[in-house]
Amino acid sequence: MKIKCPKCDKIAELGDDFSYVKCSNCSLDISYGEYVKLIAYKDARYSDVLGDYTKDTSGTTSGTLDDW
Ligand SMILES: [Zn+2]
Repeated sequence: MKIKCPKCDKIAELGDDFSYVKCSNCSLDISYGEYVKLIAYKDARYSDVLGDYTKDTSGTTSGTLDDW
């Protein structure tokens, strides 16, 4: 199944049994659980920007995935 890559926004492949997500463009290779977390993480950041972007300076929720 083709899905949108959470890392580079190109086409990634979701395993038929939802066991993995792989993207040949950016070499993404993660489990579906991690993929869901990434989507939630990006949505949360997007909401922060729309709402109160001054919270970003605290960095309490945005750090674990920034080393990508
Ligand atoms: Zn990708």
